[in-house]
Amino acid sequence: MALSYVALSLLPLAVFFFVVIAHIETDYLDEREGEVQPIAFIASDIVAARGFDTLEETTLLNNLRGMMNRRSTEWGYRVLIFDDGLRVIYDSAAGSRTGQTVIIPEVMNAISGRTIVTQLRRAESTLYTAVPVVSPHDATERVGAVLLIESVEDIFETLSDLRADLLLIIALVSLGIIVVVFIMANTLIRPLRRILLVVQRMATGRLDQRITNVEGQNEYAILAESFNSMAEKLERVEKTREEFVSNVSHELKTPLSSMKVLSESILLQEHAPEAMYREFLQDIVNEVDRMTNINNDLLALVRNDQREQGLNISTVSINRMVEDILKRLSPLSEQKEIALIYDDVRPVEINADEIKLTLAISNIVENGIKYTPQGGTVKVAVDADHQFVYISVQDTGMGIPESEQTKIFNRFYRVDKARDRETGGTGLGLAISHSAILAHNGSIRVSSKPDEGAVFTIRIPIRRS
Ligand code: ADP
Repeated sequence: MALSYVALSLLPLAVFFFVVIAHIETDYLDEREGEVQPIAFIASDIVAARGFDTLEETTLLNNLRGMMNRRSTEWGYRVLIFDDGLRVIYDSAAGSRTGQTVIIPEVMNAISGRTIVTQLRRAESTLYTAVPVVSPHDATERVGAVLLIESVEDIFETLSDLRADLLLIIALVSLGIIVVVFIMANTLIRPLRRILLVVQRMATGRLDQRITNVEGQNEYAILAESFNSMAEKLERVEKTREEFVSNVSHELKTPLSSMKVLSESILLQEHAPEAMYREFLQDIVNEVDRMTNINNDLLALVRNDQREQGLNISTVSINRMVEDILKRLSPLSEQKEIALIYDDVRPVEINADEIKLTLAISNIVENGIKYTPQGGTVKVAVDADHQFVYISVQDTGMGIPESEQTKIFNRFYRVDKARDRETGGTGLGLAISHSAILAHNGSIRVSSKPDEGAVFTIRIPIRRS
C-alpha cells in the first residue's frame, strides 16, 4: 500500500518534469531556428546576387561569415552552397567537400520548390537549414541552394544538465515521500495491529480479551470501543449459553435420577405386589411427563428466540383471545376454587402471532392460579389507549419478593426451588412469555409484595413498526 502511494505521488511529478523538459527543448530549438533562418535567406540572396563563379573571392561571403561569427556561439556554422546539380560549390568546413556531389534531402527539397527547409538531426545534434538560390534574371528559376548546418549540441547539453538536476530532485522528493508514507503507514497500522491481536486471541476462545488504551475520538477509537462492546455482548451470550446448558442438564437430571431410583426399587423387590408396580410406574410416567414438559417449553423458547422471522402475524382480537384462554383454564381454577374474573374494558385488535401471544398470556394466568391458594382470585383485564394494548393479570396469591422480581423471567428460575417444582412448573414459563412479548416489541413488568398477590402487566404496541 505504501509503495503504491509512492508510485501514485511520483507519477504526476515525473510526467510533469518530462513535459517541462520537452517544452524547453522545443522552445530552444524554435529560437535557434528563428536565428538561423534569416541568415540562410541573406546567404541565399548574396549568392544569387553574386553568382557562383565569383563566389570564392567575394567579400560578401566574408561578410556573411562575419555575421555568423558575430553571434556569440562557440559552435559556429558550416555553410555549404550547392548548384542545382547538388554539387558543392562552397563549403566553409575544414575538410571541405567542394566539388563533390552530395545528396542531402533538405537541399533537394529546397531546390525542388520549398522556400526554406529546417530539419533537426538529433543523432548528429545539428540543425540543417536549406534555402534555394534563385536566378538573378528569373525569380522563379532555382539555380542552387544554401545549406546552413548548425550544431545544437549546446542546447542538448543544457537540457541533459537540466534533466540530471530534475532527476536528482525527483529522487530526493521520492525519498521524502517514501519516508513520510512509511511513517504514516506505521502510525495508521499500529492501532490496527493491536486490534488484530485481540481479535486473534478472541478467535481462540479467550472472550475476556479487550482492546486497552483507547484514546481520542478518531475512527480507531470508535472501532475499538465498538469492538469492546461487541466482545462484552459475546461474552455475556456465551455465559448465558453455558448457564442454559447446565440448567437444562440439571433439570433433566432430577427426573432421570428419580426414574432410576423408582425402577431399581422395583427390580430389587423380588415379589413386589402389583399395586406397588402400578404406583411406581405411575411415578415414572409423571417424571416422563415432566421431561416432556421441559422439552416442549425449551422448543417454545427456541422458536421465540428466532424473533421477528418466527412470527406468524394476523389480526387478533385481544378480547376474544383472553376470553378463550380463560375458558381453557377455568377447569384448573375451578379445581382450586379460584375465582377467574375477566374485566373487558375496551375492545382492541392488533397484528400479532396469536399462538405465541396466547402461550405468553396463558403462562401468566396459569401462574396466577398456580401460586394463589384455594379460594383466591385471579383477575385479567384488557385495556388500551391509542398506542398500546394493556393486559394485566392480578392474583391474590403468595406474591414475589422484590429481590426476585427481575429474576423470575430468567430461564429455569424459581423463587422457591423445591416447592415450585412440585407445582409442576419447569421454570421456563415466564421466560417463554417474556421472549414472545419482546418479539412483539412489547414489555412485561411485575409489581408484587409477599402475601399480597402479584400484578403482571403486559404492554404491546397496537401497530407494528
Ligand atoms: P414455573 O414453571 O416454575 O411456574 P415460571 O417461569 O412460570 O416457572 O415462573 C418462575 C417463578 O416465578 C415461579 O417458579 C414462581 O416462583 C414465580 N412466580 C411466577 N408467577 C408467580 C405468581 N403469580 N405469584 C407468585 N410467584 C410467581
